[in-house]
Amino acid sequence: MNDAATIGLEVPTRTAGLLEALFRRSGVDGLHARTDRFERVVEGLQTLITQHREKDVEVLRFPPVMSRRNLEKSGYLHSFPHLLGAVCCLHGDETAIRAAVDRPDEKGGWVASLAATDLVLSPAACYPVYPLAAERGPVAGKGLIFDVACDCFRHEPSLNIDRMQSFRMREYVFVGAPGQVNAFRARWIERAQGIAEQLGLSHQLAGASDPFFGRVGKIMAVSQMEQELKLEMLIPVRSADEPTACMSFNCHRDHFGEAWGLRCEDGTVAHTGCVAFGIDRLALALFAQHGLDLVKWPRTVRTALSLNP
Ligand code: ATP
Ligand code: ZN
Ligand code: MG
Repeated sequence: MNDAATIGLEVPTRTAGLLEALFRRSGVDGLHARTDRFERVVEGLQTLITQHREKDVEVLRFPPVMSRRNLEKSGYLHSFPHLLGAVCCLHGDETAIRAAVDRPDEKGGWVASLAATDLVLSPAACYPVYPLAAERGPVAGKGLIFDVACDCFRHEPSLNIDRMQSFRMREYVFVGAPGQVNAFRARWIERAQGIAEQLGLSHQLAGASDPFFGRVGKIMAVSQMEQELKLEMLIPVRSADEPTACMSFNCHRDHFGEAWGLRCEDGTVAHTGCVAFGIDRLALALFAQHGLDLVKWPRTVRTALSLNP
């Protein structure tokens, strides 16, 4: 659905202007250098999301790589092996590494000697937070809220401007009782719609599913959809007919609680949920909606993004 072949001719033309004005090409699909114009809006968005932060929230900023073991334990490998990127290096003594570097391309080149390390590229901002929360023992009555962010990687190269291999994600994560998670998600759906309005972005909410791998994955996706565990805020970026998921509101139920032994004070397994902001997609949506010239953006939008002098 997102492949270049399925895009009408007019769509790439429409987004080509955005690509030229906001990014510098890297030669790899879905990987761009970002211009100052784009980053000013990104910074404004980050500040705006911080302004909406609830009280008693712990802020953590994660590196773009995380523990391979922890991601495996979270179940990511099982559900999304096709999206995962791992950090591989040349191991061994000087002779072994020199031989790898000098191996001719027709014999596989240096890449043939790469072997895994204990790191993977983080596919979402919230994965590293669950083991940290679990280490602290039972979750106090009112639950825990985290504000997390990182640069994410997903192996989904695409010519579509809104599908990147490397992108920034900001999330608020809740850990606590099931009812508290639902209330957290409901509050954030409401608040996020307010943010979209502040930003002058036309938006709609829709049920969604994650791209679980393989045939069993299709069943998991249907069940996720049926139980309304994932909602997305769709905003036009490439076209109004095919709006882009710029935020998601996720209920994980006891998935991470079970994986990490997260408990509430009464001994029951803690539930978790997260609200994720696709920062690069939100910035793209703003340019798609309001044009390339920041000075001409509506005053209210400029104010919301701290762009006014
Ligand atoms: P999609 O259905 O478009 O693949 P997703 O369901 O995989 O999105 P989430 O896993 O919910 O997305 O990630 C949270 C947010 O991160 C998304 O709402 C989106 O804004 C952003 N995001 C996800 N994948 C990408 C990507 N490849 N490029 C840019 N932003 C992304
Ligand atoms: Zn999350
Ligand atoms: Mg996806």
